[in-house]
Amino acid sequence: MSEINELYQEVILDHNKNPRNFREIENANRKADGNNPLCGDELKVFLELEDEKVKDVSFVGSGCAISKASASMMTQVVKGKTLTEAETLFDEFHRMVLGEMDEEREENHLGKLKIFAGVREFPARVKCASLSWHTMHAALHGEETVSTE
Ligand code: ZN
Repeated sequence: MSEINELYQEVILDHNKNPRNFREIENANRKADGNNPLCGDELKVFLELEDEKVKDVSFVGSGCAISKASASMMTQVVKGKTLTEAETLFDEFHRMVLGEMDEEREENHLGKLKIFAGVREFPARVKCASLSWHTMHAALHGEETVSTE
């Protein structure tokens, strides 16, 4: 467990300092605002969908290190995926952070996202970690706002 904690710290620090895909997408055909009032995280997720695939995905906004790092990794993982794959990832990530899935035993596609499994011990942090995923999910479905409240 301590090994994964160290990795977790490192990854969060890295993505927080140097978030990937932190920009607006001019040709975005979907976008949504995500709000986590409990912590003050506010993100906007942009999607450029083409041929049932996520051609590009990005985010902007401000928030705590966990929300930002999670958003950064979400964009890395979802980019290039089909809409169905993106939905599956959302569902798996969501169930993992809620503790509804044993990511070590159940088959899943989470890969490096598993470092976020530890947030399930901290209910307030679950919302930080899943905000970008809810926002991406809302954008996929053509909704424009989502709140964790
Ligand atoms: Zn937060």
